[in-house]
Amino acid sequence: MSKQFSPYLNPAVETMPRAQLERFQEQKLLRVLDYALEHSPLIKARWQAAGVGRGDIRSLEDFRNRAPFIDKDDIRSFRDAHDHPLGGLAELDNPNVNRVETTSGTTGDPTPFPIRARSSVEEGYARDYWEMGIRPGEYAIVSSFTFRIGITLSSLSELGIIPIPFAHTPLQIPRMVEAIQHFRPTAFTLMSTPMILWFERFFEQSGLDPKAVFASVRGAIAGGEALSPRLRAVADSWDLELFETASFGDVMSGTECRAHAGLHGYEDMAMAECLDPENDQPVADGELGELVVTTLRNPEMPLIRYRTDDLVEIDRSQCSCGRTHFRYRVRGRKGDRLLVQGKAILPLDVRFSIEEERETRSGLFQIIKEAPEMDILRLRVGYDNSVLQRPLASLAGKLEEALKAVTGVPVAIEMIDEAELLKLGPPHKIPRVTKS
Ligand SMILES: [Zn+2]
Repeated sequence: MSKQFSPYLNPAVETMPRAQLERFQEQKLLRVLDYALEHSPLIKARWQAAGVGRGDIRSLEDFRNRAPFIDKDDIRSFRDAHDHPLGGLAELDNPNVNRVETTSGTTGDPTPFPIRARSSVEEGYARDYWEMGIRPGEYAIVSSFTFRIGITLSSLSELGIIPIPFAHTPLQIPRMVEAIQHFRPTAFTLMSTPMILWFERFFEQSGLDPKAVFASVRGAIAGGEALSPRLRAVADSWDLELFETASFGDVMSGTECRAHAGLHGYEDMAMAECLDPENDQPVADGELGELVVTTLRNPEMPLIRYRTDDLVEIDRSQCSCGRTHFRYRVRGRKGDRLLVQGKAILPLDVRFSIEEERETRSGLFQIIKEAPEMDILRLRVGYDNSVLQRPLASLAGKLEEALKAVTGVPVAIEMIDEAELLKLGPPHKIPRVTKS
């Protein structure tokens, strides 16, 4: 099969048998440790404090048993304590660092990440676009809200795909549609939840046929939060194939393949552990655990045993697409989990039902967590006043019933005009769990 028609950009790596993949990981890991323990002030300090030295780690097993964890708070604390803008990840004069990106700050103030050219993010996205059937010489609409906009553009350019960038706002939708009609792009990134809603409203108001608009687009990368069944159905009705993506522990991203059976994390570039957040022991495939990630490729950004706070389910069995690299699904953030009558609830458990009603299809809501453990699940749900056709109490009652059926706990909902909720920030960044 010629490369142009192969679904894999890097077949030898993407389909490597697991045993071989793990030997490959071990070799790369030991080299990353050599580098990080010499060059990263944060990793040096963290390992010293834990009483673990480079000589203690000779295998993957040693690493899993002994290596200390780091998290975003460690990076921020090191930055503040040592007045070190890179949080101690890399030396300030490291010649391999040629860009600094900062996270969006969803869980605190933004975290700085030193980046080098040709990082694992670029390689990962290049494989994803290849899998989606996008080829050099074609065009891509790029409208991203993430801190990775620079890398999103360079990953496309390096593969020979021509990005057409737009700001991620509803005001850009008519211009994006015009560009799609003129350039006939084959790729679109990033279809966030709000972006799909903006397009939905645009098509309702303009009368344009979504199928005709998106006819040239072979795949759209969708991210920001897990896709709901309703949004998948909306994209299906436009004949637009969505490929869900999510952060793979800030080291890179994981994206669905054409089998849509979970997000592939490329394990030749980063190693994943899925651990019980209570005792840090590995959980079985399919069980909920915290994703802990270790870079194997970019030692200038030594996220080593980096706790992501993301609760995921992982699957290490071979995918029907032929790839041997693990797949995962993000279920929520560890910090957003709450207990109601002893039952663990995550925002994702309620969002999909809220999106089913027309007045609340934006899925804007907040869970009110007054105490670590509660007897009733309290929520504030935003409604779109322009499509409201029934008394608010009846809408709230319908939602309470639906959520009670999904969660199995009593639910109390306060309805609020979604314009009020949007004052808290852009739609994809409204805190899903709040104290009051
Ligand atoms: Zn696959």
